[in-house]
Amino acid sequence: MEKIRMKTPLVEMDGDEMTRVIWQWIKEILIEPFVDLQTEYYDLGLVHRNETDDRVTVESAEAALKYGVAVKCATITPNAARVKEYDLKEMWKSPNGTIRAIMDGTVFRAPILVKGIEPYLPTWKAPITIARHAYGDVYKNTEAKVPAGGKAELVVTDAEGNETRQLIHDFKDSAGIVQGIHNLDASITSFARCAFRYALDTRQDLWFAAKDTISKTYDHRFKDIWAEIYENEFKAKFEEAGITYFYTLIDDAVARVVRSEGGFIWACKNYDGDVMSDMLATAYGSLAMMTSVLVSPTGAYEYEAAHGTVQRHYYKHLNGEETSTNSVATIYAWTGAFRKRGELDGTPELCAFADRLEQACVKTIEDGVMTGDLYLLSKLENKRRVNTRQFLEEIRARM
Ligand code: NAP
Ligand code: MG
Repeated sequence: MEKIRMKTPLVEMDGDEMTRVIWQWIKEILIEPFVDLQTEYYDLGLVHRNETDDRVTVESAEAALKYGVAVKCATITPNAARVKEYDLKEMWKSPNGTIRAIMDGTVFRAPILVKGIEPYLPTWKAPITIARHAYGDVYKNTEAKVPAGGKAELVVTDAEGNETRQLIHDFKDSAGIVQGIHNLDASITSFARCAFRYALDTRQDLWFAAKDTISKTYDHRFKDIWAEIYENEFKAKFEEAGITYFYTLIDDAVARVVRSEGGFIWACKNYDGDVMSDMLATAYGSLAMMTSVLVSPTGAYEYEAAHGTVQRHYYKHLNGEETSTNSVATIYAWTGAFRKRGELDGTPELCAFADRLEQACVKTIEDGVMTGDLYLLSKLENKRRVNTRQFLEEIRARM
């Protein structure tokens, strides 16, 4: 068989622990036999991040912007324990945070559905994709305790030094707490653009929700910016594509999501997205079946699995014990990247390869062959638990 050729390389961001092991196996078993793989390789494994003073992370994100499509393995976000374990020079920042800041993107997460693993909500027939705003609000806050008798005010100083003051609360009878949060028109604008573009790209309806009835300035600003971008830049394209944009209050959105059949994109403010994406991942079955893609406002894509490096399995693997780690979300990171590369380069063979590999993953699990996490969830009667490598070989056999 002649291998599929690539016109432009993928930006490949290697990672850590069990997912790093799986990364090599996916390439060896499922990709390289079929594709003449071209990548710009960046080793984001913690050892190499430490050796390069984390420059490799920055360079990889710049490459993602330059080439337009990247695929990333899960990486360790260092904490105190990791600083010791890897003898780090510094507690390097989260690579995903660094990449997100450089690509200025929005993260879209969608579950992979298979027969036998039923969503907890039986009405959900299709995936619900969450688009989470990744800047500001409570994640970049300033907060304080206020003693009884104190007073908290909101003071804004303009460029000329003029102050406007508003009372937040007079804490005359009781001590309390106060919090300052912010967001930026520029960030809300690129969030909106990313989401509208992704909806067009994937031909799905787009919902956005906030609490503008209560937060008449802050949340209302989100609503207004979204409405403006939609009217001026996307309305005609949405109508042509036969998809809709729909704004509602966050509590109404939650109620509608539960009653829905799925198959749309739900754009959420930062905190709502944090909470709701975990709810959706669990409700659809397993974190190991959740895909994630970071989309920049300029149209660059970075694909990854939503889960981490599966540390517990890695230590078993190092001990020579058998593991049964689910590689599906990592495989879908590769297929997402191949499909996008194929679309951008006009190489339909690459898109077809991505489709075939995804179908083989789904078929494997629906044939009853699965890793331990899914084995616990699957309702299939003929199910069989296989180890990490066997699972990849079973997929290969179905290609
Ligand atoms: P995790 O790697 O997502 O794993 C948590 C648990 O979920 C695992 O122990 C396992 O449960 C289950 N699980 C997750 N993915 C699985 C898979 N593919 N197959 C089977 N089971 C799976 O989260 P963590 O253990 O909290 O974090 C480990 C490291 O990952 C940390 O250093 C963290 O910084 C990093 N992390 C990276 C990213 C990223 O790069 N995007 C995201 C999150 C975390 P059982 O042990 O019960 O089998
Ligand atoms: Mg969360």
